[in-house]
Amino acid sequence: MSEGKIRAGIIGGGAAGLFAACQLKRLSGNRELDITLIEKNPIPGKKLTLTGHGRCNITNRKDPSVLKNCYHEAGNFIYPALKEFGPEDTVRFFENELGLKTKEEDNNRIFPVCDSAVTVRDMLVSYIADRVKIITDANVLDIKKSEAFWVNTSKGAYEFDYLVLSCGGSSFPKTGSVGDSYKFAEKLGHVVVPARGALAPVKADAEAALLTKSLSGVSTEAKVTLYLSDRPEASTAGEILFADFGLTGPAVMEIAREIPSDITGLNAYLELDLIPAMSDEQFDRELIGLIGKHPDTKVTNLIARFVPASVASEITARCGLTDVYAQGFPKDNRKRLLREIKHLKIGIAEAVSMDKAYVTRGGVSLKEVDRKTMQSKVVSDLYIIGEALDVDGISGGYNLQACMSEAYLAAKSILSKQ
Ligand SMILES: Cc1cc2nc3c(=O)[nH]c(=O)nc-3n(C[C@H](O)[C@H](O)[C@H](O)COP(=O)(O)OP(=O)(O)OC[C@H]3O[C@@H](n4cnc5c(N)ncnc54)[C@H](O)[C@@H]3O)c2cc1C
Repeated sequence: MSEGKIRAGIIGGGAAGLFAACQLKRLSGNRELDITLIEKNPIPGKKLTLTGHGRCNITNRKDPSVLKNCYHEAGNFIYPALKEFGPEDTVRFFENELGLKTKEEDNNRIFPVCDSAVTVRDMLVSYIADRVKIITDANVLDIKKSEAFWVNTSKGAYEFDYLVLSCGGSSFPKTGSVGDSYKFAEKLGHVVVPARGALAPVKADAEAALLTKSLSGVSTEAKVTLYLSDRPEASTAGEILFADFGLTGPAVMEIAREIPSDITGLNAYLELDLIPAMSDEQFDRELIGLIGKHPDTKVTNLIARFVPASVASEITARCGLTDVYAQGFPKDNRKRLLREIKHLKIGIAEAVSMDKAYVTRGGVSLKEVDRKTMQSKVVSDLYIIGEALDVDGISGGYNLQACMSEAYLAAKSILSKQ
């Protein structure tokens, strides 16, 4: 161990690695640092520049006790980190340390006022530049631990007393995160929960794609239920967006994490309830009332009172009712409409594609990481943060906040050691 200086390596310069470097600088005051961040891309933070459709949804302004519920099974693991460094701390860091003003949008989502994820990345990199050695174009090939950590890269080998593993998950691999965190963690003795895509669009089977394609670009509110082998597995509610290939939008992206990595033989489909505010019975009663009151109106126009007009005309067409008027509308047709509007089946063509998933479900098992420090319970002085861990949040700034909170704990723990 080198005397006095903190000799730490950060493997992977994505959101988590950059945040860890920032917190090491911020918390160290005037102490001497010997921090090296190693990134395989020519510039760190490639995925970060894509976040929030290029605007970077930095965090979500909710109390940590509420926020933790947005991380699925990892809520209890992440809670101490969110309590110690929560959304308010993130906003303060961006405003006071980086000088980036922030603004709040719907659903408590926080963005930089400049609406530029590239600026966020650039400001993070320039914040650390005076205290952290940034080595780019350096692919980490191997990590070993004896007295110290030995890190072999395509640009040479390095030694560190502390190591932050932040090579990301395996989603959106074109940004550089190809699952190396898992490879290194496993080699160092960690158990890794198999990775699969989360927060992803869903590809419809050929039959359902005919419908989604004709409604491409239309968004609406829906309850979305995933069925596997004819059993409901999970539900979400919120906005969905029809697309040429199938479905996207927050409610669909959120349920994607529940789709198994192999759906062969499971008859997997999403059931859409396009009028989630009403029960089947309520909708049927409302429809009977409208039919009675407006006998000279086309059924399509009555349905358009509940859903967007394009959805109404597509649904009535599927029921063969395009030019049918309300007068004398038979009960059987009402049943068909009910089935198509509140139980619309969208067959799933394939498992979630890692190329399109925004985050990874799975990663280093949380049982082997101390949730108060992010230190490995298997290898001393190893810290694991970001998507390398088996933590995934819903859409809305939660995943970057997780990186920020975990990075803070890791930096604080490293600095407390010397
Ligand atoms: C399109 C898109 C939009 C998103 N929008 C948002 C949003 O608005 N808000 C939000 O909260 N979350 C958002 N996310 C999720 C968020 O970006 C991720 O959760 C976050 O970037 C994870 O950070 P990370 O540092 O763990 O991993 P990454 O950002 O993937 O960083 C890992 C880094 O490690 C490097 N690396 C990998 N292997 C090696 C190696 N062997 N040697 C050296 N370097 C290596 C990679 O090149 C990469 O730079 C979005 C994701 C995507 C794909």
